[in-house]
Amino acid sequence: MKIVLIGIQGAGKSTQGNLLSEKLKIPYLSTGHIFRELSKEKTKLGRYVKEVMNAGYLIPDRKTVSIVAEYLKRPEYKNGYIIDGFPRTLNQVKFFKNGADKVVYLKVSDEEALKRLSFRNGEGREDENPKAVAKRIESFHKFTEPVLDYYGGKGMLIEVDGEKAIKDIYSGILIKINGDR
Ligand code: AMP
Repeated sequence: MKIVLIGIQGAGKSTQGNLLSEKLKIPYLSTGHIFRELSKEKTKLGRYVKEVMNAGYLIPDRKTVSIVAEYLKRPEYKNGYIIDGFPRTLNQVKFFKNGADKVVYLKVSDEEALKRLSFRNGEGREDENPKAVAKRIESFHKFTEPVLDYYGGKGMLIEVDGEKAIKDIYSGILIKINGDR
């Protein structure tokens, strides 16, 4: 099973992704994590990614798509994956043709996400500065909401209330995934 997790920063994607990964025995990967690792490299690409991320912008589609394609070629993802943070734009969706069976949208209001991120601040994530967070929320509405509409139109979208307790969100996702199988 190929599951995509979508939500604004602070929606709880990595928490749910890791829980689902353990339960369903499907490997989890996060493009945000991949880019954060890349940004630590003292290479031209590393410095570029760091600059773009810390400003709260998306990495351009062509770069993102080629990096994700490289990762998904690995044997551990052959039988499925839970991918957090991709696709985030309609161009990325185009590349991802048969990449998703189910798309889980963790719905959280902008206010709630901002509140959560302000608590998380200080835990050392450089890309969580207030300006970058605001930019990222803006990008979500502009570029990622059309992605939700696309998958919704295909009947692949599972929308869950991301403001509930972690365990309720988790069981809600499982019920919806299994119910559709
Ligand atoms: P995240 O942890 O998912 O919020 O991602 C952190 C940052 O990584 C984002 O703000 C982007 O700069 C970059 N990023 C992650 N996934 C993507 C993607 N699918 N397309 C473009 N940029 C991405």
